[in-house]
Amino acid sequence: MFNYQLGVHEVTDGCLAYLQPDGGWGYSNAGLVVGDGQSLLVDTLFDLNLTDAMLNSMKPFTSSAPISAVVNTHANGDHCYGNERVANAEIIASRSAAEEMKEVPPQMLAALNAAPGEVGDLFRSFFGDFDFSGITLTPPTRTFDGRLDIEVGGRVVELMEVGPAHTNGDVIVHVPDAKVVYTGDILFIDGTPIVWAGPLENWIAACDLITSLGADVVVPGHGPITDNSGVAEVRDYLSYVLREASVRQDSGMDAFDAARDIALDAFGTWGEFGRICVNVDTVYRSRNPQHRSPDVVEQFRRMAALEQANG
Ligand SMILES: [Zn+2]
Repeated sequence: MFNYQLGVHEVTDGCLAYLQPDGGWGYSNAGLVVGDGQSLLVDTLFDLNLTDAMLNSMKPFTSSAPISAVVNTHANGDHCYGNERVANAEIIASRSAAEEMKEVPPQMLAALNAAPGEVGDLFRSFFGDFDFSGITLTPPTRTFDGRLDIEVGGRVVELMEVGPAHTNGDVIVHVPDAKVVYTGDILFIDGTPIVWAGPLENWIAACDLITSLGADVVVPGHGPITDNSGVAEVRDYLSYVLREASVRQDSGMDAFDAARDIALDAFGTWGEFGRICVNVDTVYRSRNPQHRSPDVVEQFRRMAALEQANG
């Protein structure tokens, strides 16, 4: 539908996508909605170098329509760590996302990337490409709950909170006049969704909401541009994992054993398939509040181990 190449793509009149193949860990997409004399940026990137490169490549559009507002679709650093480069704009996020941003500051990832030994090696294997040093976390200046419609240079843009799903405060960005929706990490295309927050039922409902918008172009948080067929694939994956994990939880199987036991079949060709470990654990936790999830280091260990065993 569109080439999956690094850089800016004008997907419809005045709606851009910025794509970063291959869409794996930290390689997120962003968007730009260009109005009359003003633009809205959907997400910044994981570090300052990447964000600078993106903002430079958008200059043909932003020189006459400067970025007046930014939406962070959620709290993960690959969608907000570049905020200081657009600090003159109004920065908008859901209230839950703004809260969650405080939990994983860039200094924490910088420290993990620089850590000695097994933990450092583990984190560098996921995030070693990125430079987290010297980043000043720049929080949102405007927050909302549920729904916020804004105007950008004469265009209406609808912000819809659909979390907790991928994270606590996920938001999608709908541009009705262009029939475009930017989904943030509610969609990973050709990569595996990771359900940090859940429940999976919320994420499935978010997929149904996106489909109901009737957009022609769907820009995912990671991976190539898609349409409602891509939304359906993510929905199928989530429904499958929810069903298979629930059966194993009811039979008393350990969550990590269940993640290794579920046959991913066609879904196993997607990148980062080891995220099944986190997704199954989230099913267990959402169905049983007494379930104790492993800490984040152990979650990454499990994903790496599963991908090594099956890769
Ligand atoms: Zn992301």
